[in-house]
Amino acid sequence: MIRCRVPGVRDLINFLKDLEPGTRNPTPDSPSLKYMEEIKDITPILSVVIPVLNEAESLALLHQSLTQVLTSLGKPYEILFVDDGSNDGSYKALCRLSEEDSHVRLIKFRRNFGKAAALSAGFAHTRGAIIITMDGDLQDDPAEIPALLSKIAEGWDLVSGWKAHRKDPLSKRLPSKLFNWVTTKVTGLSLHDFNCGLKAYRHEVIKNLPLYGELHRYIPVMAHEQGFRVTEIKVRHHSRKFGKSKYRFERYLRGFFDLLTVVLLTRYIRRPLHLFGGVGLLCFAAGFVINLYMTYLWLISVPIGHRPLLILGVLLVVTGVQFISMGLIGELLIKERGDPHSHYNIEDTRGI
Ligand code: UDP
Ligand code: MG
Repeated sequence: MIRCRVPGVRDLINFLKDLEPGTRNPTPDSPSLKYMEEIKDITPILSVVIPVLNEAESLALLHQSLTQVLTSLGKPYEILFVDDGSNDGSYKALCRLSEEDSHVRLIKFRRNFGKAAALSAGFAHTRGAIIITMDGDLQDDPAEIPALLSKIAEGWDLVSGWKAHRKDPLSKRLPSKLFNWVTTKVTGLSLHDFNCGLKAYRHEVIKNLPLYGELHRYIPVMAHEQGFRVTEIKVRHHSRKFGKSKYRFERYLRGFFDLLTVVLLTRYIRRPLHLFGGVGLLCFAAGFVINLYMTYLWLISVPIGHRPLLILGVLLVVTGVQFISMGLIGELLIKERGDPHSHYNIEDTRGI
């Protein structure tokens, strides 16, 4: 049974009121509040995005518990399901839900494009000021939503769930621990659980996220790099009741490649020569020193033709030049194709 707990709800309500356009601290009978009441089903404040791949048995239960929590907040909301190419009747179940409940909106992919793509499509169609994401398999608990929102109300831009007592097999928990540790070390953003499906975002965070492949795991990293305030709270996690996990062990291997992509995208996208040039220069310098030594040996008539060190020296110099060239080509690409306004993120302006 999924709990229904509403912590910090007063904070939340105040915060949500603040978010309504033109209604900073409105009085109860202010026209804008009345207007908001009238259009409450057209202009949601909260959007819940749920990627779904073959979760038919879970959907009605999820909708029920989610609705219970969302209605208890008393604010306009929408639930946006993205069917990521299911073939188990999930879409039928979702259609039924959308017919019964006008809060439910639906996107159906032609085939399975992956969770990142599903989230991306969902984000593109949300209308809320705050976006919640959660998995469609009942493992995330909707009762945690008010706690996430309270944290947003404190001024955080992204609040990530942390499955402190994760209800998954050890074979999943261990690699996940390693994954989170490495990601924290490499990115400098300290989170216990980057890959938790349950998260809350201010709308600005998800507006321009480059989400594809399996980059959804790094949303907090990308947001952090953009200057958004990212935090985490412990959330309850349930074991899977129906169906099976869509990911196997190899996701962690792929995950580390994705980490390289994210480091490249977040730190070096505007200055590729600093990355490739740095590595290139190191190789070149090492090769140069080795070759200098070889030249010295040759000058004092020591035979060097059979020395493996000579091959290493030449190889390092060539590799170094290649890395530096790659960096230069990267710089050329940015100059020609890059958007000069995409490397900063403006929080506020006055008189602009
Ligand atoms: N999912 C998806 N597309 C995919 C894989 C997964 O939409 O290609 C959805 C899935 O239906 C679920 C969520 O992403 O709602 C998380 O997947 P899963 O529960 O299999 O991941 P796990 O909990 O095992 O990490
Ligand atoms: Mg799951």
